Amino acid sequence: MKIEFFGACQTVTGSQHIITINGKKLLLDCGFWQGRRKDMETLNREFPFDPKSIDAMILSHAHIDHSGNIPNLVKQGFRGKIYCTKATAQITELMLEDSARVQVYDVGYLNKKLPLGAEPLQPIYTPEDVAPAMKNFVGVNYHEEFSPLPGVKAYFRDAGHVLGSALTTLELVEKGTVTRLGFTGDLGRKFLPILRDPEQIKAVDYLISESTYGDRLHDTLATSYIDLAKAINDTYARGGKVIIPSFALERAQELLYIIHELINQKAIPPLFVYLDSPLAQRISEAFSDYPDLLDEETQKTFLEQDKDPFIFTTLRFVETPEESKKLNNIKQPCVIISASGMCEFGRVRHHLKNSIADKKNTVVIVGFMAENTLGRRLLEGAKEVNILNEKLPVRAKIVVLNSLSAHADQNDLVKFIIGAGKLKKLFLVHGEENAMAVLTDKLADAPIGEIVRPGKGDSIKL
Ligand SMILES: [Zn+2]
Repeated sequence: MKIEFFGACQTVTGSQHIITINGKKLLLDCGFWQGRRKDMETLNREFPFDPKSIDAMILSHAHIDHSGNIPNLVKQGFRGKIYCTKATAQITELMLEDSARVQVYDVGYLNKKLPLGAEPLQPIYTPEDVAPAMKNFVGVNYHEEFSPLPGVKAYFRDAGHVLGSALTTLELVEKGTVTRLGFTGDLGRKFLPILRDPEQIKAVDYLISESTYGDRLHDTLATSYIDLAKAINDTYARGGKVIIPSFALERAQELLYIIHELINQKAIPPLFVYLDSPLAQRISEAFSDYPDLLDEETQKTFLEQDKDPFIFTTLRFVETPEESKKLNNIKQPCVIISASGMCEFGRVRHHLKNSIADKKNTVVIVGFMAENTLGRRLLEGAKEVNILNEKLPVRAKIVVLNSLSAHADQNDLVKFIIGAGKLKKLFLVHGEENAMAVLTDKLADAPIGEIVRPGKGDSIKL
């Protein structure tokens, strides 16, 4: 029995690990690599293993860096089942369709700029490739044992990271020997709005753990309510707009939930809030199919009173690009939530272009901003930015909320890893070098046989 690591090795994207047991192969996650286009093209198009050789797959959650290459896997001959929670299956379909549309748009744009006679670029997959991939999905409930392969029993617990996210425990039996292995996917954090708290993987011999924030502690979530209310109230007093670039899954729903609560508590005026992301809207609707997966507070505050946590009287959904453009003409204070989260694609760039040069306005940064993105430049206090081929001075106020992360921080990770049992080996993945190094130091006294930070292609006997 062995495990091989092919993605999210000393980095945070492209999650893909393979367990070989009784001659069969089980793939854990099939994520997209994300970063500079040129570097990612080959990594995503060509698998470092034969997709036909994989017998079954487990998907931890719907984020593209864990699910994004599934249509390509199926296109290249994978025919096994893909096990995940039912919510993950539903949301993944929306995410993959969106990813395919972005690829088609992106390639179309780049092809227009190609020199004459150059080979046109192709998307890695198109929206037509998503439906065949979805046929392989099998939705499983949390806490319900299933068997993806002979000799493998699997079990999902709630990871508390995004709706449907799962912590996987595997019981692997080969030649009469039982080995227990845990896989975090992405580990969430306690007290996140809407979601239930993460559960604990227990009594495993091996653990594959994410380590995104292995070197950092988060601000408490209470500060996000206070800071967001202040940003909105200050902007309202100046007669400006609040622009919030947001990821479509989870962050957008959290923002709607928090703003809804702030309006209910009269902590902010009942101003118009525009959700300008059809994907975020579809995902918000999907939440109502899974009331049982929402936390106690959401149940009490909203569901028991027959209210939708994401719907309030001053909320407007923006569907078409034309409707989106019309927001430019609004003169009264309002909040605009729009994607993409890192401001690299999508409608949010138009809102930023329209608002950034006016000091009445505010841009609220609520998520992780990778290097070389417009979001990162704003976060780092750039005085001038280039948006859609126009140089603009940054006069709007930039407010950064560090408290809304959906990932466990260092303390949470240490507690979780120690709680997972007397580990023979801990495999740290899904983190940058420094995060892993600092977390490894923090775990120096923990009862762990060995801490491994696998490199891409490493194969380790279990
Ligand atoms: Zn994630």
